[in-house]
Amino acid sequence: MAVAHSASCSHEFVMIKSDTTIVLWNCNLCHSGPHWYIWECTKCKFKACRPCSVKA
Ligand SMILES: [Zn+2]
Ligand SMILES: [Zn+2]
Repeated sequence: MAVAHSASCSHEFVMIKSDTTIVLWNCNLCHSGPHWYIWECTKCKFKACRPCSVKA
């Protein structure tokens, strides 16, 4: 599934945490990470670190 680009989505981020060190995420915007928690858009599943979730 293609992830909608941020331009077409008014992101609504929620913080999600990993319960395991196996599942980690990188920020889709600045590629920082891996993080054991990330902010994910409930609409397009775009994942961003905290600073990026604020400015995205
Ligand atoms: Zn979005
Ligand atoms: Zn970021």
